[in-house]
Amino acid sequence: MSVISDVIEKVKERDPNEFEFHQAVEEVLRSLEPTVQRHPEFVKAKIYDRIVEPDRTIIFRVPWVDDRGKVHVNRGFRVQFNNAIGPYKGGIRFHPSVNLGIMKFLGFEQIFKNSLTTLAMGGAKGGSDFDPKGKSESEVMRFCQAFVRELFRHIGADIDVPAGDIGVGAREIGYMYGYYKKIMNEHTGVFTGKHLAYGGSLIRPEATGYGTVYFAAEMLATRGLDFKGKNVAISGSGNVAQYAVEKVNELGGRVITLCDSSSTIVDEEGICGDKCEFVKELKNVRRGRISEYADKYSGAVCYIGDSVWDVIKEQGIKVDVALPCATQNEIDGTHAQALVNNGCMCVAEGANMPSTPEAVKIFQENNVLFGPGKAANAGGVATSGLEMSQNSMRLSWTREEVDRRLLQIMKNIHRACLDAAERYGSTGDYVTGANIAGFIKVAQAMLAYGVV
Ligand code: NAP
Repeated sequence: MSVISDVIEKVKERDPNEFEFHQAVEEVLRSLEPTVQRHPEFVKAKIYDRIVEPDRTIIFRVPWVDDRGKVHVNRGFRVQFNNAIGPYKGGIRFHPSVNLGIMKFLGFEQIFKNSLTTLAMGGAKGGSDFDPKGKSESEVMRFCQAFVRELFRHIGADIDVPAGDIGVGAREIGYMYGYYKKIMNEHTGVFTGKHLAYGGSLIRPEATGYGTVYFAAEMLATRGLDFKGKNVAISGSGNVAQYAVEKVNELGGRVITLCDSSSTIVDEEGICGDKCEFVKELKNVRRGRISEYADKYSGAVCYIGDSVWDVIKEQGIKVDVALPCATQNEIDGTHAQALVNNGCMCVAEGANMPSTPEAVKIFQENNVLFGPGKAANAGGVATSGLEMSQNSMRLSWTREEVDRRLLQIMKNIHRACLDAAERYGSTGDYVTGANIAGFIKVAQAMLAYGVV
């Protein structure tokens, strides 16, 4: 058995129920095959075996009290996967589906994504199976405080710096950082995604969505194309989706879909102008359902219970570019085939691992430009890195300065993927390129440290 197959088998045997983690490990390690031949020193030092095992996994009880005085107990996680190249860095997710397998898949991906940004950040992820939907403001606050009551002892500006993810936006970061600051009596950059008033960075809220679109624009440019006049399908309607919509509009594309976990809306006239503000207010302030968009705008159609990709498949909607920005495994093989049949030429993953392995294979076999999440959505964590730099220097860069740096980082990541793919014999393959480019630096650092 090859070195890589052996490691994959061991991971599956050791933790048989962590399906998303197996999927991520298999996707990354298979594309690292060419590095095995070229780097016998990595094999000797068992870097492949070591990189799939987290430095540490913290699982904790999160008891909290609701508005009626009833006690609830959720489970909290922080997977500190690898700090070879910098302090642990990665988001916190609050969603009922959160479990150890999902935390490990996200933490593992984060190692390579953070390395690709060229900033000094290790990989981590955390979260809880707490569901913020339907909870009052004070319940969300009490939960965030209960979560930090345990998490605080494991994080720090030079140790581990959490950020947002699904279910964790500016509001939750405010409650978590506020409580951290209270009990630690220190004001340091230990969370990113903070409000501007207390150390946040301009462009951080926009960064993941903007960065995904910048990455897609770079991919399109390799074929002499751009966003102008293109039909763009976006899934989700949260942080990443909202700012992806904004940037696509700026670059001349037409966004025709959005969704949440209940329904999908299709607006062939384009989701732009006031409609974008409506979505932001609906999702970030009123915390309502995306179906309300179709109640407000008569040109839009709402499909209850269907994902964006179901609707495109069933209604045969023409799409040039797809930007999945909701959640993992939202695009399966049948969705990918429908996108190809409907003319899709470019897919950039705003979400983490939104395409199943079958879907990725179909995109690649059909010459669709495919940008995997760890490269395409790395703009979020890169700008978190810029927020950490500004906090350390006690200064704030302008909006233009941060956006300029973000654009340059996305261009550099795009170039690094293509260069690594070519160097290792897979020209034009962004998946292989992203994995190898992210891996090599981390592996070299691990090698330098000896067996620790
Ligand atoms: P968010 O603000 O919480 O938004 C998530 C959106 O996806 C919501 O519209 C949500 O709908 C929808 N969604 C969640 N689960 C779904 C499901 N099973 N089916 C259909 N829709 C679903 O989260 P976000 O920060 O935008 O994150 C979205 C994705 O981007 C995640 O994969 C995340 O890991 C990734 N990402 C985020 C960042 C960042 O900076 N925020 C950075 C890199 C990658 P409901 O409102 O119904 O829940």
